[in-house]
Amino acid sequence: MRHFLLIILWVVFYACHTRTARKPIVALQPMSFDSVEQIDSVRSVLERYYGFTVVVLDNTNLPESTFINVKSPRYRADKLLKYLQTIKPDTCDYIMGLTTEDISTTKWESNGKVKQPASRYLDWGIFGLGYRPGDASIISTHRLGKNPEVKLDRLQKICMHELGHNLGLPHCETYMCVMSDAAESIKTIDNEAKSLCSKCQSLAARD
Ligand SMILES: [Zn+2]
Ligand SMILES: [Zn+2]
Repeated sequence: MRHFLLIILWVVFYACHTRTARKPIVALQPMSFDSVEQIDSVRSVLERYYGFTVVVLDNTNLPESTFINVKSPRYRADKLLKYLQTIKPDTCDYIMGLTTEDISTTKWESNGKVKQPASRYLDWGIFGLGYRPGDASIISTHRLGKNPEVKLDRLQKICMHELGHNLGLPHCETYMCVMSDAAESIKTIDNEAKSLCSKCQSLAARD
């Protein structure tokens, strides 16, 4: 009888435990972005590589409050991240914005000062930005070139990279790891493999 009770308790515990351990959900938010092919390729790489569920939200415009025209007309990525957090569905764990518009942010030194020259780095054009750790990221295809195949490859890697930041991963110095710092060059991204190195994999699994 005692054994029987223990078995029942174990079954109940196991059932509850497995029900709560659902896959994390990423909401893809197209923002002035209409390439179904690119959206599908981002969805498939995130599902395949991270094993997350990806849902695609309806296309929306970039809010005017994030627009800036210091060096050229574009949108502030840091403001877009805050905006994305306000529209993230409660059922989703992460939100990732995709846009064709150019995006920018301020580049900071580790001492908290703007990287010099400030005229260059105060409003610096970027490929993508994601909280580390956090629940929001934004990726732009504006700087990914014209060749559709190359563009798709770069887009997938940048999305993997920004989601890695959301999971708490810092930049990594392992050769070809997708968490490498782009260091202001698209060539760094072209040299990456579409994967995390073993060190980043174990860090991501721990979080
Ligand atoms: Zn990064
Ligand atoms: Zn790594």
